[in-house]
Parts: sequence; structure tokens; C-alpha cells
Amino acid sequence: MHHAPKFGFLIDMDGVLYRGTDLIPGAERFVRELRDRDIPFRFLTNNSQRTRRDVVARLVRLGLDVEEEHVFTSAMATARFLAQQKPGGTAYVIGEGGLLTALHQHGYAVVDHDPDYVVVGEGRTFNLEMVEAAVRMILGGAKLIATNMDPNCPTQNGLRPGCGAFVALLETATGVKAFSVGKPSPVMMRAARKELGLATDETTMIGDTMETDILGGVQLGFHTVLVLSGGTRAEDLPRYAYRPETVVPSLSELADLLDRTDWQPPWRPVRPRVAVPV
Ligand SMILES: [Mg+2]
Repeated sequence: MHHAPKFGFLIDMDGVLYRGTDLIPGAERFVRELRDRDIPFRFLTNNSQRTRRDVVARLVRLGLDVEEEHVFTSAMATARFLAQQKPGGTAYVIGEGGLLTALHQHGYAVVDHDPDYVVVGEGRTFNLEMVEAAVRMILGGAKLIATNMDPNCPTQNGLRPGCGAFVALLETATGVKAFSVGKPSPVMMRAARKELGLATDETTMIGDTMETDILGGVQLGFHTVLVLSGGTRAEDLPRYAYRPETVVPSLSELADLLDRTDWQPPWRPVRPRVAVPV
């Protein structure tokens, strides 16, 4: 009896599934094929602003048939990590609902005084009063945790400063380096792979950003697929010391590629499904 090799996908969202409010052509088909074929996948986002439920609502509105179990955010990875490091701890949070909810769900209390951790995520709540409070807490011994170090985030109106930019401000003011949990950190990449229930060699990371998706995938030993539907152009690739295993214009062409192998991963040896006498 032939067993199909197990494999699955970790899929970045921004620049892979959508750009701003527009679904990228091929995304709906790709996700539908994965679901129809019971191929495990998780959407992996460094954005810690939204809860899992918020993310699903947004994806469903764009026309994707997905559920909460398919979403893994840096907020979830951060909360899980902190709960392992110091169960029942306290955090001063510069961030929004996604991060606050995840911390609460993992037994953390969000406080304004003497926290175990200062945790920084995305959001629009950032102000100088919070920065001053955070600086004093860090100098007083609180550990500095970043959900991610992305320097900026794409929006409909262009770039806005990302979590990494705010963390840099705190790092400069305190002389303390943050520990970052989001992509490319192995903390998030490995947790996501375990969510799939797959081994390293059975896992493929699909993303549009070399510094996070592809670097993290390369470091963890995953297969990597760069899509050019987001922030990276083919001309950018020679600048990097590492490269993705596969490069495609978008999920549409990746679906075409997988169609040709009947959705067996083409980047690894696959046993023939049918023995053909020659
Ligand atoms: Mg992206």
C-alpha cells in the first residue's frame, strides 16, 4: 500500500495571500486545493495586532475558506513562549488586542508597574508616555520582548513603522537588546512546524520577504518558496547570502507547479504513485 509522503505549508499572509485589501490571484485556489487534499497548513504572520479570530474574519471577507486553527500569529508565539519561560508572569504591553488576548489566554496578567516583561507588538496605541514608562521598567530589570523586528508594515497608504522600529527606540534608550519571537526566530518557526505535526523536511515555508520568511525557513532547514507577489523582486535576490529553494511569481504559479505532480511536493524525491512497466 502506497502512502503519500507527508508534507505541509507555513504560509505568510501579507504579500502572499493579499496586498492591502486585494486578494492576490491564485490565493483562493491554492488554499482550496490544500483543504480539499487535506494538506496541513498554517498562516504565519508577524503582525501581532489582530487576534486569531480577527485574522480569520479578514481572510473570510477576502474570500478564503479558512478557520481559526489555520492561523498562527507572532502574538500567539510570544505568549506561548513567555508562558514556558515564566508561567503566570506579568507584562507591560505596548500593543493591541491580538497580543493582549494571547497573553491573557496563557495565564499572563497585564500590569502597569514592576512587570516581569515589557512586551512590544504592532499597534497604533504607541505614545511617548508609554515609552518612558517602558524605559524605566526595563532599566528596573524587566526583560524586553519583541513580537517581531519588522522595520515597517505595508498599508494601503504606503509603509508605516513596524514593531522593530519601536523596539529600536527602546533598545537605544536603555542599551538593552530585545529578544524577538516572530519570524525569522526559531521560536516561532519551530512552534509553527510543530502545529502542523510535521518534521523539518516535510515542512515548506512560503513567503515574500527574504529577511523573515525565507531566512527563517533556511535556518530551520525547511523547504522554502519565495513568491514575488509582495515586497521582493527577482533582481533583489543576488544581494542575499542565502536563497530560497523555489521562486514563483505568485501562489497561482505554485498551484500550477503542484498540479503537475498531483500535489506531491516537487522539490523532494517522490516515489511514483503507480508502477509503470517499461
Ligand atoms: Mg509578507
